[in-house]
Amino acid sequence: MPDSTIPPEVRAFADQLSQPRPMRRGSLSERYVKCSKPGCSCAEHPEARHGPYYSVSRVVKGSTKSRWLTGEQAGQVREQLEAGQQFRKHIEAYWQACERWADARLEAPEAASQEAAKKGASKRRSPPRSSRKSTNS
Ligand SMILES: [Zn+2]
Repeated sequence: MPDSTIPPEVRAFADQLSQPRPMRRGSLSERYVKCSKPGCSCAEHPEARHGPYYSVSRVVKGSTKSRWLTGEQAGQVREQLEAGQQFRKHIEAYWQACERWADARLEAPEAASQEAAKKGASKRRSPPRSSRKSTNS
């Protein structure tokens, strides 16, 4: 049975998160390099270095994994990285919305005890809430 008590903001974030996109974590780098060809001007002039060469890298368990990319792939990877960052923000916003919801549940003991009853919990009376509200919120 769908829970009709899901707050709209939580529902909205959940909907956003349920739309998969290709995305990745890591970073894109663009390099200009010197070659070892004798007489090539790249040895002396930074502006004559070769490139750009693109790579994407990511630290996995302490070691950096990277792969080279074509210019076209680099454009795609840039979008995928942005999608990943947006996803991370959405996750955070989702957490916050769910935590507000969770806090609201604590303030509404009736709803919580109804839920417990549905799940077959024994009908014990909820003890009077000792109010330990934080005053510096
Ligand atoms: Zn060169």
